[in-house]
Amino acid sequence: MKRDTQLTRAGRSHHGTRPVNAAIQRASTVLAGEAKDLYNRPDGIPLYARFGMESQNALKSALCEMQAADYCALTPSGLSAMTLATIACVSNGGHVLAADCLYGPTRMFLSDLLPDWGVKVEYFDPRIGGGISQHIRENTQLVFCESPGSLTFEVQDIPAISAAAHKVGARVLVDDTWSAGLNANMLDLGADYAAQSLTKYAGGHSDVIMGAVLCRGDNAERLKGAEWRLGLCVSPDDAFLVSRGLRTLGMRMDKSGAASIEIAERLAERPEVSEVLHPARADHPDHAIYTRDFSAPAGVFGVQFKDWDIARSERFLDALEIFGLGFSWGGFESLAVHCDPQLRRNFRDQRDGALIRLAIGLEDVDDLWNDLEQAIRASA
Ligand SMILES: *Cc1c(COP(=O)(O)O)cnc(C)c1O
Repeated sequence: MKRDTQLTRAGRSHHGTRPVNAAIQRASTVLAGEAKDLYNRPDGIPLYARFGMESQNALKSALCEMQAADYCALTPSGLSAMTLATIACVSNGGHVLAADCLYGPTRMFLSDLLPDWGVKVEYFDPRIGGGISQHIRENTQLVFCESPGSLTFEVQDIPAISAAAHKVGARVLVDDTWSAGLNANMLDLGADYAAQSLTKYAGGHSDVIMGAVLCRGDNAERLKGAEWRLGLCVSPDDAFLVSRGLRTLGMRMDKSGAASIEIAERLAERPEVSEVLHPARADHPDHAIYTRDFSAPAGVFGVQFKDWDIARSERFLDALEIFGLGFSWGGFESLAVHCDPQLRRNFRDQRDGALIRLAIGLEDVDDLWNDLEQAIRASA
């Protein structure tokens, strides 16, 4: 089945009389019929709702189908998907290699908590590719990538990084929120764990926060172990909302991705712009890896404005009428933020001007362009 057919069918039953969507089952306790069932459920239904009821299970199955994964853990946020997958892979005495372009709060988790747990964290240049092998040590347990990276949009060479990591038995985790696991499959590319914030495109309507970690084969055991011991779970209502988002994920990403290329193109022509950071553009430094590994773009990208200071960035943002000002992305409404106050980089931190992130939503592309143009003028 092709992508869009799969998205309409994934995680649903296709037999017998049934409602189209999985039921929202509000529960903590699930009663056993007989005492002998308390510790041994012949039908496999767990007796406690932390392990997931119908709507959570339907969402897990749908995500597994989309990425040909064997196991999916749902987490209360995208950030907790990253922390769960990390915890599943590290132990005292270990070493983590982390891409310099990781989402800020993920970086804070690694830098602020792991050293206290006896785990060393070292950042690497996201464009390192197979050169990662020079940084891999005997005790390297995890290589943590995010592709493309937050704010700066570096695309990592996951096959090359995975090949080097697997030589010493290190696991590879990729935050693939940008592709939503739809426009690229990090597990096919060699990653052990693909984790994403479902808050973004999968949810799609700015009304739910959730994350997922997916994996195949033996990698499920350690993930499951950490998930259960940490007690992570999500509400049945939220799982229902994300499943509903999946049905339109393909068309929403297509529209937002195509509009983002159009807008990136027009911005690149403007004299105020020094660089457009969009992997789908031919002038992006990682464009070759992007075209090899991704089938389509998301609608989120960066724009660097020459010589702009924070005050000009703020005048620009305040002049926008259609774009909302706000964090997150992947919803129906276009959003803009200036990134400089939150940028933390060990590599390539020299930039020419101000970095603004645009998340293109589902509005008309000409309306969005007119809004950007008038705001650039108004900010002068
Ligand atoms: C938003 C985001 C997260 C965190 O997701 P939440 O659902 O907001 O916790 C993690 N990684 C990336 C790349 C993100 O964009």
